[in-house]
Amino acid sequence: MGLETVCVNGQRRRPFSFDTLLCPSCRGPLDMAQPAGLTVHPAVTLGEGGTPVVHLQKIGRELGVEALFAKLEFLNPTGSFKDRGSALLVSALREHGVRQVAEDSSGNAGASISAYCARAGIRAAIFAPGSAPPMKLAQIAFYGAEVVKVAGDREAVAQACLRHCRQNSVVYASHNLSPLFIEGTKGFAAEAAAQMRPPPDHALFPVGNGSLLIGAWKGYTELASTGDVQRIPRLHCVQSKACMPIAAAHRKTPWTPPPAGADTVAGGIAVRNPPRLHQVLQALDATGGDAVAVEESDIIHWQRRLSHLEGIFVEPTSAAALAGLYDLRKEGRIRPQDRVLVPLTGFGFKDRIPNP
Ligand SMILES: [Zn+2]
Repeated sequence: MGLETVCVNGQRRRPFSFDTLLCPSCRGPLDMAQPAGLTVHPAVTLGEGGTPVVHLQKIGRELGVEALFAKLEFLNPTGSFKDRGSALLVSALREHGVRQVAEDSSGNAGASISAYCARAGIRAAIFAPGSAPPMKLAQIAFYGAEVVKVAGDREAVAQACLRHCRQNSVVYASHNLSPLFIEGTKGFAAEAAAQMRPPPDHALFPVGNGSLLIGAWKGYTELASTGDVQRIPRLHCVQSKACMPIAAAHRKTPWTPPPAGADTVAGGIAVRNPPRLHQVLQALDATGGDAVAVEESDIIHWQRRLSHLEGIFVEPTSAAALAGLYDLRKEGRIRPQDRVLVPLTGFGFKDRIPNP
C-alpha cells in the first residue's frame, strides 16, 4: 500500500503492516506517518461522519455556559463515533485482501468493526468482557460477527483476543492500537472546524483509550498548520472516578486500579491501562487542556438532564463529558463566556437504561 508508520516516541518511519501494532524498539503505539497517502474517502463506507452540531441552550444555562454546542456523534451508522475509525481501518483491510479479523471491545468499537466487516465481506470475531451491555453484544452478533465472551477484566479480554490471532493467523484489528483507526477519527476535527467558526475555546471528551481526543488533536493541528483554523481548542479529558488512569497521571494524584476491574456506568471509558496514555497527556499539554475524573452519580444526572432538557438520549459514557464540564466550570478552568464543544459519542439505546 506504500503506507508508513512512525512511533509516537520517535520519528523513525517504518512500512505499515497490520501485524505491527507496537514499535519494535520501545513498544510504544504507532501513528501513520505524514503525509499518510491515504484516500480521503474510505472504500468501505456506510455514510459515517457529517454529524450535526447543535446549540445546547438549556443545559448550557444549567452548566453555566451560554455557548455550549454538541456534535452528535451517536448519529453515525452504528450509533457511535467509532465508525470514523472503522471505515478507514476496514477499507485498508479489504484493500490488503484480509479475509478474517479479530478485535477486543467492550461494545461500541466491536459493533462498529462488525458492521464494516460485514459490508466488506470480512469475517470478524469480537472478544468482549462477559459484563458488556447485552444490547451491544446483540448488535455485534446481528451483524454476523462471532461474539466471544471472556471472563475477567478488559486486559484479560485483550490477551485472549491476541492469543486467538496468533494461534489462527488472524489479523488483530485493534481499534485501540491501529494507527489507521486514529487516522479515521481526524475527520471529527475537520468537520467541527467547518461547523464552528471561530473554533470553540474548549472541547471535552470522555476518554477510555482516547482515540477521538487524539484524532481531534491531530486534525486540528494539521488545520492550524495550513492556516485553516486560527487556533486549536483546549482539549480536555473526562474520566470516571472509578477508572481514572489519565486524570490521575495528568493531575499527579495517586490512583490504584481496583483489583477486579472498574465498576462504572461509563463502560465505554473503563480502560485501566490505556496504551495511548502518554499521547493523550501530550495532547492535553500541547493544547492547554485538563483532565478531570467525575462521580458516577453525576454522570447519570447529566445523562438524564440532557434527555429532559434537550431531547438527546446518549449512553452514560457520553454524558461524562457534561459532568466534566460542570467540574471544570466549578474550578474556574472554563469561564461562562467561553465557547464549548462536546462530542456526544454513543446512542442511549446501546447501554443499560437508568430509571427515568
Ligand atoms: Zn519507538
